[in-house]
Amino acid sequence: MGGGKKENLEGKVAPLLPAPCILLPEPLRPEPHSSHLVPRRWAVADLVSSDFPYKLSADNVFLTVGCTEAINIITTVLARPGANILLPRPGYPQYQARAAFCRLEVRYFDLLPDRGWELDLDSLESLADDNTVAMVLINPSNPCGNVFTYHHLKKVAETAKKLGIFIISDEVYAHLTFGSKPYVAMGAFASIVPIITLGSLSKRWVVPGWRLGWIVTCDPHGILQDIGIVTNIKTYLDITSNPPTFVQAAVPQILEKTKDDFYTKNLNIMKEAAEILYDRCKEIPCLTCPHKPEGTMTAMLKINFSKIEGIVDDVDFCVKLAKEESVVLLPGATVGLKNWIRITYVVDPSALKEGLSRIKSFSLRHAIQLP
Ligand SMILES: *Cc1c(COP(=O)(O)O)cnc(C)c1O
Repeated sequence: MGGGKKENLEGKVAPLLPAPCILLPEPLRPEPHSSHLVPRRWAVADLVSSDFPYKLSADNVFLTVGCTEAINIITTVLARPGANILLPRPGYPQYQARAAFCRLEVRYFDLLPDRGWELDLDSLESLADDNTVAMVLINPSNPCGNVFTYHHLKKVAETAKKLGIFIISDEVYAHLTFGSKPYVAMGAFASIVPIITLGSLSKRWVVPGWRLGWIVTCDPHGILQDIGIVTNIKTYLDITSNPPTFVQAAVPQILEKTKDDFYTKNLNIMKEAAEILYDRCKEIPCLTCPHKPEGTMTAMLKINFSKIEGIVDDVDFCVKLAKEESVVLLPGATVGLKNWIRITYVVDPSALKEGLSRIKSFSLRHAIQLP
């Protein structure tokens, strides 16, 4: 830049403050290589391995910018010409979107509403071929709101082993269960098949804006290491940005010092909302909730077209409901299940009751008129 230009800029650009311009706690000054904050990775390793019989180390943990980036990394790392990945239907749209972006073919296996949203293991088996690299499981399940049992997860692990693929277990809702089934970490079955667990602070600690997530390799036989997945994750992390250092610095405190009553209080709020949803849904003729939510903050509701008229599909339902009642639901098509609805029900109980009563009015207004 020429001298004249520089002078022109003077007075227009705020002078640099003497460093450090923000008063950061000592361990943060200076930490340019945010990916190397080992104590934070240990904290995540301890948290995740407390859920199963063997211990992970910081080497198994990669910190990411939320679980969203964890998904981006893992799908990109797996993509190669001709490869495919098996995804649950209904599922979480980020997987499909990212796979399309890196030209990874997706194939869907069904989650079965009349079996408490368990996997259709037969359809899973029939989808896989030599080019299948992995399958994705979301437990506790967004969008279905169910929690998989130990027994079912073991069967899933055995099926994956038989197919020669590993499992990406999205446990962003880990421990957010309030029904009769406890949360079981898929990593508990890592001796059967390698598991890549994804998680984040967003849901359990209710800080989605803090953008801190993780990829954890649960791989006691070192298979992911041998086939180069671990190296590829490291390479990806070298060319992408890391979570902000001050959020990373807070991780051990957040994971180790959050008081139990924070968790209990949130679970009670979720449980109460789930009860309200399930009970009031029975009074809405055009919707059925096939399975009472036992975890997460979402549920799938089926539209009964035999009870309403003048509505063609799930998108039409949601558009008309928004226009007439100012209630916003997500069309099932967005999560892979046409003519269903996904509801996010964890809101203030009075708002939830009000919302559901508006959906009921909508249902009655559009009810089929018998001659
Ligand atoms: C919210 C969510 C994510 C993304 O988590 P962030 O940490 O907010 O990026 C990933 N997977 C599932 C199933 C989710 O519900």
